[in-house]
Order: sequence, then C-alpha cells, then structure tokens
Amino acid sequence: MPFSTELSIAIAAVRRAAEVCRNVQRAIPAAMEKQDKSPVTIADFASQAVICRALGEAFPSDPIIGEEDSAELRLPGNKVSLDGVLSQLSRIGLDGSPDEICRWIDRGGAKSFGPRFWTLDPIDGTKGFLRSEQYAVSLALIVNGQIEVAILGCPNLPLEPGGAADAGTIFFAVRGQGASVQPCFGDAAAKPVRVTSTSVWADVRLCESVESGHSAHDRSAMISASLGIVKHPVRLDSQAKYAVVARGEGDVYLRLPTKKDYREKIWDHAGGVLVVEEAGGKVTDIDGKPLEFTHGHELSANRGVVVTNGRLHDDVLRAIREHVS
Ligand code: AMP
Ligand code: MG
Repeated sequence: MPFSTELSIAIAAVRRAAEVCRNVQRAIPAAMEKQDKSPVTIADFASQAVICRALGEAFPSDPIIGEEDSAELRLPGNKVSLDGVLSQLSRIGLDGSPDEICRWIDRGGAKSFGPRFWTLDPIDGTKGFLRSEQYAVSLALIVNGQIEVAILGCPNLPLEPGGAADAGTIFFAVRGQGASVQPCFGDAAAKPVRVTSTSVWADVRLCESVESGHSAHDRSAMISASLGIVKHPVRLDSQAKYAVVARGEGDVYLRLPTKKDYREKIWDHAGGVLVVEEAGGKVTDIDGKPLEFTHGHELSANRGVVVTNGRLHDDVLRAIREHVS
C-alpha cells in the first residue's frame, strides 16, 4: 500500500510522544511563556524531540515544519526545563545529551522546504493540556500540496464516546485508504471511522474551540440560530474537534476568525483535515475554498476553517456568508 512505511513509523512516533505527554500531564505540568505569550511545557519540547528524531532517522531528507524550536529552552534561565525534557525522554528509553535533544527539536524548524515535507504540532491545544482536558499530537505528510498521511493522537479522548479516557485514541488516515481509530495506549485493532449522515438541523452537534480568542463564539451562535441548530455547542481544545467529527460524535466544527490578520498554522490543521476527509467529511475555509498547504507554515490563502459531515457543508457556508463579513 502507498505510504505504508511512512504510516507505521509516524504512528509509532506519535504513540511514543503521547506517552511522554501523558507522563508529564499526570505530574501537573508547569508552563513557560513563549515570546508570543502562548504557553509551552516540557511536554511540547519532548514530544517534538521524539517525533523529529524518529522521522529524521527514517526519512533524513524530509523537512519537518514543527511548532516549537529549542531557542528558549537553551537559555541558561531555562535549565530546569531542559533537564525536565531530558528526564522525560529518558523515562521512555530515549537518552541524549542536552545538545543532541535540542538538535532533535530543531529538526522540526524547517523554514525552507520542498514538495515533500512533514508538519507537526507536538501538543496542539497546550491550554487544554494544562487544564487536563483535550489536546492532540498532530503529524501529517504533505506531498505536492496534498496531505497524504495524517496521524492525530488524542491521549485524553475516550475510545468510546462518553467512556473512560485511559486508553486514549489515535486516529490515522492515508489519502484514498480511509480513516481509522485505535487506542493510543495498548494494542487493540484499528477500526474504520465515518462521519455522520445527519441532515436535520435539530440533530446537529457543533464543535468549537474552548478559547473565544481562537474562534468567534458570538458569531457561531448567530450562525447556529439561523440554521436551526438547537443543541449547545461542544467546546473542546485542539484537533480533537476534527477527530470528533470524523467518528460521528459531532457534525460540524467551526473556526471563525477573531482577528482580521490572523492566519491559521498548517500544523493546527493538516492532521485533522485528512482524517475528516478520509472519514467522508468535508473541510474548507469560511469562503468555501480548499485549505492550501503550499504557502509555508501558514494557510495564508485561507480564512478560518469549516468542517462538516459533507451534507451540511453548503448550508453552513451560506449561513456564514450572511453573518461573517
Ligand atoms: P484550539 O485548541 O482549537 O483553540 O486551537 C489551538 C491553536 O490555536 C493553537 O495551537 C494556536 O496555534 C492557535 N491560535 C492561536 N491564536 C489564534 C487565533 N487568534 N485564531 C485562531 N487560532 C489561534
Ligand atoms: Mg496548535
């Protein structure tokens, strides 16, 4: 099967990274602040180190566009954090010197890239991670602008909706081969996932960000009301929202811009997009255009994101046109 090597190496790397994240989360992690004021933890760095090391060994010529870099971790004032990353990696059997570990992280700092590259969010939804809620480890392979392989590790998302979260979930997809889910921790067989066939607005479950700074809650409420959606929106952090739509636990995920000049980052979407599309759903921006993964680390040709089970898509876009300028 095409991309089977990439898929198995990427799944193994995301599982390992998810294990580190879970270990850190259980110990009540502390956050550092990045230059843009967003939070980052030792788990973000350790997750990126694990995945970039694995991809670097298997596919040495593939660039990786990841969210983090080691610049702040290398500052003398952050030695405690760097030591924390080292000891978390050592716990899963990955030993390296501080410099080696920073170099693994910086493999994910590709600025120039070719037609084939990976994009990685080592912890998407760091705010959710810090609240012990949802977060995702998101990894995707893009070739000639097309997402070909996607892995979405959701360590806190129960395998069965409403069930216990112990095993977590890992979703994966290869273009043309469908999307599947497996426990994130443990060995149970993968099962295919499929979006809903909901077409009645009274049944529609809408997901959106917890953070009102990431998606305009007021406008999504107006859009929902105009469509006849009556259920309360389900708010969760990270690309777990894509996972929820892919497995039919939600029908729509809206991400409505809160700032005119904000451009979505490719690592916040690539993994989720292919999982939803291969589960039968549809993803566009709020203008109905496909997301373009050919402009570097940002989706600079797109505004916002609309994810649906497919059937509801055109009506959602029409309602957005009426309520978002
Ligand atoms: P979520 O958990 O869905 O709210 O998304 C988390 C992601 O939102 C983070 O990884 C950030 O990259 C991204 N983000 C930060 N600021 C904004 C913004 N103003 N609009 C949309 N997304 C943002
Ligand atoms: Mg993110």
